[in-house]
Amino acid sequence: MKSTNNPEFSLVIPCYNEEAVLPMLATRLLKCLNDLKISWEVIFVNDGSKDRTFELLARLHHEEPRFKVISFSRNFGHQSAISGGLAYTTGNTVGVMDADLQDPPEIFGDCLQKLHEGFDVVYAVRRKRKESLPKRIAYNLFYRLFRFMAESEMPLDSGDFCLMSRRVVEQLKKMPECNVLMRGLRAWVGFRQTGLEYERDARRAGSTKYSFWKLVQLARDGIFAFSTMPLKLATYMGFCAVGFSILAAIFVIAWRLIGFQFMGHSAAEVPGWAGIVVGMLFLNGIQFLILGFFGEYIGRIYTEVKHRPRWVVAETLGVDVQNQGAEQRACGQVD
Ligand code: UDP
Ligand code: MG
Repeated sequence: MKSTNNPEFSLVIPCYNEEAVLPMLATRLLKCLNDLKISWEVIFVNDGSKDRTFELLARLHHEEPRFKVISFSRNFGHQSAISGGLAYTTGNTVGVMDADLQDPPEIFGDCLQKLHEGFDVVYAVRRKRKESLPKRIAYNLFYRLFRFMAESEMPLDSGDFCLMSRRVVEQLKKMPECNVLMRGLRAWVGFRQTGLEYERDARRAGSTKYSFWKLVQLARDGIFAFSTMPLKLATYMGFCAVGFSILAAIFVIAWRLIGFQFMGHSAAEVPGWAGIVVGMLFLNGIQFLILGFFGEYIGRIYTEVKHRPRWVVAETLGVDVQNQGAEQRACGQVD
């Protein structure tokens, strides 16, 4: 893959309505990328922004041609924007970061050092988050649940902020799926991976582009794309329900035959209808839950089989779309 024209380092930055933070981001990037003393390019992915993001990116590109831009035809979502950006990188090492400067680009220096030591992926691990308490609790729970359920080894508290070798990026480009959680795929690829601790800042300007429901969607994609445990849960719950009903049947027969008092009543009084209703509701609830799990998988199978492109490029600045061999198959979101 190594070519003399390729930069040593490519950085992918998805941007959705980020006009407020772009000037600050460009200044900080220029300083820290030049400090790395290697050749670099930045691929900004304009994910269908409705504000002046594209205009500002175009200006940045004209001032500094190593700032390159891919502009999508509409908003395809953060994860698709990362996949799209990765597909057009040419660097021998590739970084991913958000536009809002929550993650310090200065640590790419240390990440590059680790890559030279022989690692293929260096992901940043958040030591502290400067976010609201409910958001921190939700993230904490999600990462632990995700790790428990995922069928491959997943690191805790690491997002999309990372540095990867070219061979990992080439593997990611081959991944055919649409409902992606990049950090999950990255872990799935394997090779030598390591974490680097850092403190996550608050967003520098503008507001979050993730609504509560978008975060829930991301969490669902993560869990249902990397685990079949919810399907197995149906079997376990079925076994438990059957086991419980056998025990209950033995108890009821004994209650009737021996004639002892249970909660102040004998079996002959037949006071148990409330218990039956509660039991039925419980089992119905389980059935609906399991049907929901089936729905989650079937919905995802449906989006995958449509084979739609995962993004549509409207415009590029400084990026040769023809040259990348980026196979853009896949699709939109399940919902
Ligand atoms: N983003 C994107 N498309 C979207 C939503 C977000 O490209 O549909 C980008 C956004 O511009 C930012 C990154 O993804 O660079 C992370 O978004 P944000 O900081 O709003 O998420 P949070 O940190 O609040 O979870
Ligand atoms: Mg952010």
